[in-house]
Amino acid sequence: MLINPGRLWSSIMEIAEIGKIPGGGCRRLSLSPEDGAARDLFARWCREAGCTVEVDAFGNMFAIRRGIAESDRLVMTGSHLDTQPVGGRFDGIYGVLAGLEVVRTLNDLGLQTDRSVVVANWTNEEGARFSAAQTGSKGFAGQVSREEAYRLRTTDGLSFGEALNQIGYAGDGGPRPEQLACYLESHIEQGPVLEAAGKTIGIVESAQAARWYQVAVTGETRHAGTTPANRRRDAFMAASAFAVESRRQLLGMDPDIRFTIGRMELGTNAPNTVPGQASFTIDMRFPEDQVLNLAETLLRDVLSEVDQREGTRSRLQTTHLVPTVRFDADLVREVEVLAGDKGMRLSSGAMHDACAIAAIAPAAMIFVPSRDGISHHQDEWLEPSDAAIGADLLYKVIESKAKAATPLGSV
Ligand SMILES: [Zn+2]
Repeated sequence: MLINPGRLWSSIMEIAEIGKIPGGGCRRLSLSPEDGAARDLFARWCREAGCTVEVDAFGNMFAIRRGIAESDRLVMTGSHLDTQPVGGRFDGIYGVLAGLEVVRTLNDLGLQTDRSVVVANWTNEEGARFSAAQTGSKGFAGQVSREEAYRLRTTDGLSFGEALNQIGYAGDGGPRPEQLACYLESHIEQGPVLEAAGKTIGIVESAQAARWYQVAVTGETRHAGTTPANRRRDAFMAASAFAVESRRQLLGMDPDIRFTIGRMELGTNAPNTVPGQASFTIDMRFPEDQVLNLAETLLRDVLSEVDQREGTRSRLQTTHLVPTVRFDADLVREVEVLAGDKGMRLSSGAMHDACAIAAIAPAAMIFVPSRDGISHHQDEWLEPSDAAIGADLLYKVIESKAKAATPLGSV
C-alpha cells in the first residue's frame, strides 16, 4: 500500500470534530459556520501539502498540485465536505480527504506529475440547507448558472450568495471545465451491495435514472354512514388499489425497480367522509431509462384499470426526470483492472457530484462499503481498512492518469 492509512483516518476524524453531534455524526450544513471551519481546515492542510487553493464563484474549492507538462490539462478528484442535518462522518468527506491523501502520498514519494492533480470540494452537494443538490458541481459543469445558484435561499431567508460571503468563500478563481482530462470521485456506497457481496471496492458504471410523478385521483365526496359500497367512488381506495397492484406488477417486471409513494393527501381528510380526492407522489428509479419507460406505461395501465373498477378519474403527471448517468467506459475499465478481485461493478442508487461532472469530462467513481448500508445518519461507518484500500486505489488511478505524458488537447 502506497498511501498512509493512519494519516487518512486521523484527518477524517479531525474534520468530524467540526459540527459534531451526539452519537458520532456531523451537522455541517452547506455554507454554515461549521462548513466554513471545515473548509478552512481543508485549505490549510492542502497548502501545507504544497497546493495552491482556488475558489470559484460557486464557492467550490480546488486544491491544485501543479504538474510539469506544458499542457494545462488536469486530473481531478474530490467530493463534498457538507453534510445532512443529521449526517455521518464519511459521506462526501471521505472522497475529499482521500484526494488529499493522494496529494500527500505523491509528496511522500517525491513524484512530479505531468498533469496537475486537483482535489475539489464541491459546494452544497447535499441540498439540505439550500434545496437543490449538487449546486457547486452542476455550476462548474454549466448546468446551473451563477444567478440561479445565488437566488437559492435557506429556510431562514439567507441567500446562497450572502452565505458564501459570510464565510468568505465567494471567489473568482478555479480551473476551467475544459481543462479536465478526467474526474474520479471516491465515496462511501450508502447502500448494502458491497457488504453483502463481500467486496471492498465498487466500480461504479452508472447512476440510476429517477422519475417523479404526481397523481391526482378524483371520485366523489360522500357521507361515510349513508353511502352504500356500490354507490361509492372512493379516491383513497382507488389510490390504495393502484399502489398495491403497481408494486406487484413492477416487482414482477424487475425486482430492482425502486417504487415509492412517500406522500399522500386526501381532499377532505375527515374521518367520517368518503374522500373524493386523493393526490400522491411517486418516486421511481432504476439504472436503465428504457426499463423506466416500460414501468411508466405499466403505471398508466394500472391506473386506468383501477379507474374503471372504482369509478374514479385519475391523472398522472411527470414532475421531475433524471436520465441514467453513464460513467466513462475506459476510465471505469482502468479502475476495474487496478481494483482486481476486490472490486465489483455496480450502479449508484444516489446522485453524486461525479454525475454532474460526467457531462463535461470522462468521469468515474470508486465506492467503499458503508456498514449495514447506513448513510445520512450518525451511525454511518466506514471500516478504516476499507477506507485505506479505497484511497490506495484512488492514488493508483490518479497517479497513472496524471503521470502520463500526453500532447496538449488529448485525453
Ligand atoms: Zn455524498
